[in-house]
Parts: sequence; structure tokens; C-alpha cells
Amino acid sequence: MLERFLRYVRIDTQAEEGASTYPSTAKQLDLSRLLADELRDLGLADVELSEHGYVFATLPGTLGAPVIGLIAHVDTTPETPGGGVVPILHEDYAGGAIILPGDPSQVIDPAEEPALAERVGHDIVTSDGTTLLGADDKAGVAEIVSAVAYLRNTPEPRATVRVAFTVDEEVGRGAEHFDVEAFGAEAAYTLDGSGIGELEIETFSARQVRVTIRGRGAHPGTAKGKLVNAVKLAADFVASLPQGSLSPETTEGREGFVHPSRVTASVEDAVVVLIVRDHDDELLDQHTELVRRLAAAIEEREPRARVQVEVQETYRNMRSVIDQHPRVVAAAEEAIRRAGLEPVRSLIRGGTDGARLSEMGLPTPNIFTGGQNYHSLREWASVQDMAAAAATVVELVRVWGE
Ligand SMILES: [Zn+2]
Repeated sequence: MLERFLRYVRIDTQAEEGASTYPSTAKQLDLSRLLADELRDLGLADVELSEHGYVFATLPGTLGAPVIGLIAHVDTTPETPGGGVVPILHEDYAGGAIILPGDPSQVIDPAEEPALAERVGHDIVTSDGTTLLGADDKAGVAEIVSAVAYLRNTPEPRATVRVAFTVDEEVGRGAEHFDVEAFGAEAAYTLDGSGIGELEIETFSARQVRVTIRGRGAHPGTAKGKLVNAVKLAADFVASLPQGSLSPETTEGREGFVHPSRVTASVEDAVVVLIVRDHDDELLDQHTELVRRLAAAIEEREPRARVQVEVQETYRNMRSVIDQHPRVVAAAEEAIRRAGLEPVRSLIRGGTDGARLSEMGLPTPNIFTGGQNYHSLREWASVQDMAAAAATVVELVRVWGE
């Protein structure tokens, strides 16, 4: 599994926000192609690289056993440099701060990270500090490939496994072309979580709000009484957003937020893109309404400005779907126990391919991978935790086979 992981993270698969192609970047296919070849070499059936860049494959199970899906994504986030990853294996971690050699200002400090402090004696993988590592989600990919490679040579009863490696999860489009019916599984699991033993059955509900502000241009030398500067209006709008609460930097757990993630502005036009998140759909509506009110206030302050608000649904909390399939959660908890761990139910302050897939009728909770500090130059993963995730997958396929 480690050998696979170190190979996959070296392949640049960074997704891109707002691209018109699918997948958003062609380089994601470099890994998709390699995975299709690898699954074929392992002797899996129905290996396919779809026109959209998804990799599918089947590991046949015991005759008459149910069909379950195992899903991970090949892409990495556009938020953090993702090309030229040089993974570093810190064998038998002795404790203390890990200083990343490519940029010594990047320090992974166990004083700030209880999870690392507890992993003395583990083998820890990091980047060199100049890029992300890509355990999100190549840890999940390596764990699934290793689990099916192991299972195919074992005689124990097992479910039939449908493997899927998706693209563009990090830009919220991972399930966009996913054909649930053709996939043919009755339940699925994404391997896209983090801390050991965690099973995530709840995501945010998510929207994107785009606020477009139209000002009025004029030559600055003769602008008196004419110029309406959209740059300033956008700045006022952003400053009017909540700060002490309802922001990612000031909330945790079940608290939602409105988050300006991108601004483009000139005198004539400004666009502020916000993401709105909550686990509760009613609160999500309230946060969306707040953004609308603050946007409307721009026109109240400057009646010559024109403001337009567009709201787009991104994904829904998968909890309500998962709750209808207690067997799917029970099987995962049993598998985690058989791997020698205590299952921990937790919630995702984000989304997964599973949120969309659950909405589309395929209940898909999320299992831990052992990776930590996602979307950061200080991302790291414990090899032993990753092995525990792979073992959980093996057990899960067997639980369903029984
Ligand atoms: Zn991920």
C-alpha cells in the first residue's frame, strides 16, 4: 500500500475551479489511466476508463452476495500547490516537531496536533513542505487498490465490489457524470475521511452565492458626481459580512457559515463569490437570506449601483438518506471493530462525492483514510493508520459477504 501511495502522490492531479472541461484538468487522467492499467493487471473484471475520466472495475464476490461500491477521488485541491510532490517517509517517528526540508518554515508540531503526538513509533509521510502531500485522496485510492489486490486471492465469503475512482471531487463536481444505475451497487463507501476509526454519515448542505455589483465608470479626472466605484461597493459588502460568528475561521462542529471565497473587481463590475454551509437545511436558508439582505443593502447605500444575486445548490447533507439505511452504517462499524478499532461517528464540515451520490439514491457514508491536515503544506499521514483503513475495507467487503 505504501509503495502505491508514494507512486500516486508524485502524479500531479490538481483540479481547477471554474474550468469548462470535464475533468477540469487533463492531468488527472494521468493517474486514472495508470489505475485502470493497474486494476487490469490485478485481474479485476470490467475495468473501464469512462469518457469522463472515471475508473470503474469489479472484484467478483461470492455467488449471490450483495454488490457494494468503494470510491475515492484522484484529484487534489486547487487551494494548495499540488505539482512536483516529493513525499518524505519519516520512519519510526521519535516525537518532536517535523521540519519540512523544502521550506523549513513549515513545521508539523505535535504540541499543536494531538494526533501526531499520539503517533510516536509510526511511519509518517509528509511532503517536502512546498506542496500538499495528496493523501486527500490518494491515501483512499491506495487503500482501495491494496484491499482488492489482497481480497482477490483469499477464499473467505465476500461481497462483489464495484470500484470507482472519480475526478474533480475537490471542485465539487466529482459525481457530476456518475451513473448510479450502471454502477449497480446497493450501497457504497468513500474512502475520503481522516482520523483513525472515523465513520462520517453527515455532511454540510452547501450552496454557492454569486453577488454581481455593477458600478458606473468615468474618467477619474472628471468623475465628480458620476463615478460609482464597484471596487469600493464590493469591499463594503465583504466588510459587512459576519466575522465573529458564521465564518469558517470562527466556527466548528455543527456551526455553519457564509464565506467569501473569491472577489474580482473593477470600477464597472465586481463579483463576490461566497459559499454558504450548514448541516441544517433551515439554517442554510437563513444564512442564504442574510447574504441576500447584505447584498440588497449595497443598493440602499448607493441607489445608482445594480446588484444581482444568484444562488446555486451544491450538495445536500447526506444524513437523511443514510438514516434510511441503518445496515450500511452497521456494516461499516462492524468492519472498523474487526480491524481492531473503535468506530467513531463524526460529521464532515464539508462535502464528499458521497453527499451527491446519496442524493442520487446510492447511500454512501465516508470512511477514514489516516491522512491529516488536508489542503495544507503540512499534510501528513501515518502509514499504520492507512494500513488500518485498508484492513477496514477488507473486513467491510467480508461483512457484506456474510
Ligand atoms: Zn477528499
